[in-house]
Amino acid sequence: MSESTLRIGLVLPDVMGTYGDGGNALVLRQRARMRGIDAEIIQITLDDEVPDSLDVYTLGGAEDYAQRLATRHLTRFPGLQRAADAGRPVLAICAAIQVLGHWYETSAGERVDGISLFDLTTSPQESRSIGELVTDPVVDGLTAPLSGFENHRGGSTLGDDARPLARVRHGVGNGVGDGTEGVVQGSVIGTYMHGPALARNPELADHLLARALGTDSLAPLQLPEVARLRTERLAAGRRG
Ligand code: GLN
Repeated sequence: MSESTLRIGLVLPDVMGTYGDGGNALVLRQRARMRGIDAEIIQITLDDEVPDSLDVYTLGGAEDYAQRLATRHLTRFPGLQRAADAGRPVLAICAAIQVLGHWYETSAGERVDGISLFDLTTSPQESRSIGELVTDPVVDGLTAPLSGFENHRGGSTLGDDARPLARVRHGVGNGVGDGTEGVVQGSVIGTYMHGPALARNPELADHLLARALGTDSLAPLQLPEVARLRTERLAAGRRG
């Protein structure tokens, strides 16, 4: 691995990674390589300490028990917190939003302390939200609609230091009745979109990649198959 290799942290894929969320790291690596940038995925498992020196981090969703194992590990080895404090980009999917908040309540009603990278808390909704999610982003630098598949019982309430990622067009999102989806705080982005989210939303992938590379502009990639996938997924959301 050369000095200039982009290092992508895939955090706890052994316990967090439902619906192929590990694919988000693959998408980042592929979009970097297609631009001639050397990139590697570093897997961080429950057997590893969490390094704070990687260029970008991704975390996937999980069921309640796996989510608790991940929470305990990230609390014990706070490398992700140091990386986020230093402005490294982080993408957190579904259960990972909840783990990165102040606390979450499981469907069994137990409250678990999170790692407070997001100013938010999560409690179970009356019913589980399952299905296609289509949203319009509300953060600078993102203009294209976002799409993903959601499956969660938790609903997340954002505090003053956190902003939503998007407004819901179709589906549920954060699930607390305000029409918001996802969360952005500093360099950390969370979303309830599985899919994997970055395969469906190349603009979001490049947003993270640009930040990881410390640049404002990345040469666009023309990938007709990705454009076709997006058209299909956005239509599926409308049919819903
Ligand atoms: N266990 C969490 C919930 O149901 C997260 C689920 C997920 O990551 N898909 O809210």
